[in-house]
Amino acid sequence: MRGMKKKPRNLGLQLLGFLRSQSPAMVTLLGELARCESPSHDKAAVDRCGEIVAREWKHRGATVRVLRQKTRGNHLRVEIAGGHGRAAGQILVLGHIDTVYPLGDLKENPFRVAKGRAWGPGTFDMKGGLVLALFAVDALRATGAVPDKRLVFLWTSDEEIGSESSRAPIESEARRSDAVLVLEPSLGPEGKLKTARKGVGGAEIVVTGRSAHAGIEPEKGVNAVHELALQVERLMRMNDPSRGITVQTTVIAGGTVSNVVPDSARAQVDIRVSRMADAAGIERKLHSLRPILKGAEVEVRGGINRPPLERTAAVQKLFAHARGLAAAMGAELHEASTGGGSDGNLTAALGIPTLDGLGAVGDGAHTPHEHVVIRALAERAALISGLLASI
Ligand SMILES: [Zn+2]
Repeated sequence: MRGMKKKPRNLGLQLLGFLRSQSPAMVTLLGELARCESPSHDKAAVDRCGEIVAREWKHRGATVRVLRQKTRGNHLRVEIAGGHGRAAGQILVLGHIDTVYPLGDLKENPFRVAKGRAWGPGTFDMKGGLVLALFAVDALRATGAVPDKRLVFLWTSDEEIGSESSRAPIESEARRSDAVLVLEPSLGPEGKLKTARKGVGGAEIVVTGRSAHAGIEPEKGVNAVHELALQVERLMRMNDPSRGITVQTTVIAGGTVSNVVPDSARAQVDIRVSRMADAAGIERKLHSLRPILKGAEVEVRGGINRPPLERTAAVQKLFAHARGLAAAMGAELHEASTGGGSDGNLTAALGIPTLDGLGAVGDGAHTPHEHVVIRALAERAALISGLLASI
C-alpha cells in the first residue's frame, strides 16, 4: 500500500487557529479605537480616529489614500493588490469610523473588558469591524493565502448621519467590484448576517393654518394642529406590513400658546420599504396628501433616500458561499433581514452582490451597554479572511 499523502489542513481552520492567537491583540486595538471618540459631526475627532486606522493599514504595507473632506471627517481608501498581478477583479469592504456618541461619553461609559465582552461606545457599531478587517488580512499573510482579487477597503466618516459625503466614493468603488462585504454589526447572539435591509426614507409634513383667539372667535381660524392630526391618520393608513412597508409619524410640533388657534404644525415621518418597486408608490401617496380642512395648506418634503438591500439570487449565492466557509470552520452561519439601513443598501441597489452584518458579534449598538463578544472576534475575522481569499 502506498503511503497516504498528508492532506493539507483546511485553510479555514488555519485562519481560525492564527486568529485565536490574535484575540488579545484584537481587544487591545479595539480599546485604542474606542478610546479615540469619533462622533460623526466632529471632523477633528473623526480624523484622529482615522489616523489610527490609517497607521495600522500602513504597518501592513497597504496603500492608504485619504479622501479629504471639508466639513466631515476624512474617508480612507485602503488598497491591497491582488495576488496574480492581473485584472482579476475587486472586492470592496465597507465600514465606518464615526459613532453616534458625543465627545465625553467615554467618561461615563469607558472602554472595559468584563464577562468575556469588550464594552464601550462604538465597540460593536462598528470599531469591532475595523479591527476584524485588519486581522483578517494578517491571517491571509500568516497562512500564505493570496486573494486573486484586488482588495479595497473604504472606511468612511459619516455613515451614522446618512453617508452624504461618502455616497459617491462608495458607489464608484462598488461599480468596480465583484462583491461588497459590509462589516456592520451582525444580528443576535448567533451573529447572523444581514441579507436583506429595508430602504429608508424620511418626510416632513408642514401644515399652515390661520391663527385666531381660541375662545372668542375660533371659527375665524384654521387649526393647523387639527389638520396635522387628520394627516397623521392618513399617514398611518399607508402602513402595509404584508409588503414590508412602514410609515411612522415620529415627531410632531405645533401651536404657540394654549388660547390661540395654531397657524402652524409639522411632523416628521420615518418611511421604510422592503422592495424598491414600492418606493415610488409610497412617495406618490405621500406627495398627494391634500388639505382636509377648508383654508389649510399642506406641504410634503422628502422621500426614500436609501434604497432597500434586496435578497436577490446573487446575494443568496454569496451568503451560501459564506455559510460553506463557516461550516468548514465548524460554525453554523445564519441570515436575517432588518429594518435598519446601511451603506450596503447603496451598493446592493447598484446590482453588486452585497453581504452585510459581517462585523462583530455583540449587542447594544447606540446604547450605554454596547459591547462585542471577545470569543467571536477570531471566528468573524476568519470568516472575513476566508471570503477575501475565495471570492
Ligand atoms: Zn454602523
